[in-house]
Amino acid sequence: MAKVKILIEGYAKKLKNGWVASSTACLITTENKKIITDPGCNRKKLLEALKKEGLTANDINYVFLSHCHPDHILLVGIFEKAKFITFDTNLMYDGDLILEFDKHILGKDIEIIETPGHVLEHLSLLIKTPKGKIAIAGDAIWWIEGEEQVFDIKQKDHSQAKGMNMDELIESRKKLVETADYIIPGHGKMFKVQK
Ligand SMILES: [Zn+2]
Repeated sequence: MAKVKILIEGYAKKLKNGWVASSTACLITTENKKIITDPGCNRKKLLEALKKEGLTANDINYVFLSHCHPDHILLVGIFEKAKFITFDTNLMYDGDLILEFDKHILGKDIEIIETPGHVLEHLSLLIKTPKGKIAIAGDAIWWIEGEEQVFDIKQKDHSQAKGMNMDELIESRKKLVETADYIIPGHGKMFKVQK
């Protein structure tokens, strides 16, 4: 089974004229792969978190990117040896080689699923772990700082993205909560799904 470790708990604080924000970044370890999800945009925090795990960016085999927003993807470039699983019509980037991928490319215990709504092209992960099934939701589910973190399938998306679609987002959230025991949101704390 795979192991999931939250390296950085994502945060999103609203300012008058913008945000202070970076995504939740996780390290997934399987028998033969080390995977980073949504490395975010806080370089110092990410490098410190990797160091704590005894890793450098060059030890990472795959980087998973849930969607196109810079607060999730700005640091992709530091992983020089990795392949990138992307939302971009579900293509994998290996340098300039751009290939289709299978939903189990990251391992038999890790499934890549489509979760549109926050933006049209959005992916999440469902991971079998010894603790139960964990979903790395990306921004299908997220909170801003200061909000009470109570999950409601219809909760408003604070996105300012032009492609946001609430109906699709609700369907995507259903997929996640139906399958997962725990959810790691794009910004905010991991929570247990109440069944
Ligand atoms: Zn985000």
